[in-house]
Amino acid sequence: MIGSGGREHAICNKFSESKKVTKIFALPGNAGISATAECITNIKASNHQAVIDFCRTQKIDLVFVGPEQPLVDGIIDDLEKANIRAFGPSKYCAQLEGSKAFMKKVAADNNVPTAIYEVFTKAEPAIEFAKNLGFPCVIKADGLAAGKGVVIAQDLTETIATIEEFFAGKFGEASKKIIIEEFLTGAEVSHFALCDGSNFISLGFACDHKKVGEDETGPNTGGMGTFSPSPFVTLEIEKTILEKIVTPTLNAMKKLSHPFKGILFGGIILTKNGPKLLEFNTRFGDPETQVILPRIKTDFVDLIIAATDEKLAQTKIEFDEEKKLVCVVMCANGYPGDYKKDTEINLPEIKNQPEVLILHAGTAFKNEKLVANGGRVLNVVASAKSFKEARREAYEIVDLIDWKDGFVRRDIAKKVEA
Ligand code: AMP
Repeated sequence: MIGSGGREHAICNKFSESKKVTKIFALPGNAGISATAECITNIKASNHQAVIDFCRTQKIDLVFVGPEQPLVDGIIDDLEKANIRAFGPSKYCAQLEGSKAFMKKVAADNNVPTAIYEVFTKAEPAIEFAKNLGFPCVIKADGLAAGKGVVIAQDLTETIATIEEFFAGKFGEASKKIIIEEFLTGAEVSHFALCDGSNFISLGFACDHKKVGEDETGPNTGGMGTFSPSPFVTLEIEKTILEKIVTPTLNAMKKLSHPFKGILFGGIILTKNGPKLLEFNTRFGDPETQVILPRIKTDFVDLIIAATDEKLAQTKIEFDEEKKLVCVVMCANGYPGDYKKDTEINLPEIKNQPEVLILHAGTAFKNEKLVANGGRVLNVVASAKSFKEARREAYEIVDLIDWKDGFVRRDIAKKVEA
């Protein structure tokens, strides 16, 4: 496992449920992951040769890459060249996440419904295009910007300021090219498709809460909480998403001679004119994974191997259809701005409560004590037959966690609890 967040903790837990797994190494992992995996902290994921050498020495059967950066850097290509089985998209396919201009072109060329847009490398024509679109308008850095490269500009003044800031190098190379697009409204959902290059299996939908403050106020974060499934997605909407967004994208990548393998994560907005694609990510979401995986009953190793070996057409998946899941993210005070590290956390002992789980996102052990070492620090995940019950269970555990330097949003999944 490459990665160190709550997503990777959830995936390691899922792998450890499989009888086929004898040992997991996590590179670098975190304090929570160390309960199920051996954490390797002296190899950097960016050093592909060192990762390959480690895999060979340890006779690793499968490498799972959690975050986007190593995928965009081409780690899957390098592992495959070294004959090591690795799950995830190639460097070419990871452009669906790594370059918004690439993603928009694939969508436009294949009639995938998405916002009206244009790509710019100069300020003047970009400002003209935005004026014609009207306000608010959406300004996006082309490349990876740690989830911060999207601005919804309310008026011309903000639009000009943002465009100039992006071109001045706010996100370095990532904002030398920008996308200006139409502002869409509707409920947002995240869809996860497990892909083998030709076929896919839908893993379901989740919704996230991005803003730091209750009632969706304040700045954006990496995600303050999630719930799954999404009550906004009817069977008909699901069918449209699979037929108009997922299938044509997979077909398009195959036609480009770069079949897409891995997780195709669609950020989708349900407009009154139907579902439209906002963005693709080419890996699992964090904290969406935490609420997607517990509904999967099929052995997770079998699913991942079937995808890497191009056998999804012959693979069946079973879900726990009854389960409703809620994940509450605990953050360090100050996040998403400056926050303190190394603050002490005391976790409660959870006994006989298989329906709740504390996953670690940014934690470490220091002098044998559990401490926070990131902005998003813990994820409390609860499952129940109703969102109301799952919320109650999740916040009950949150309140038992002794960490005076942390905070949560109290309204995660509140809008769907009725
Ligand atoms: P992205 O990284 O492209 O998903 O954008 C981050 C967030 O910005 C999305 O989850 C939406 O909330 C918002 N967003 C992006 N594009 C649009 C759009 N065209 N219209 C409205 N909101 C958008």
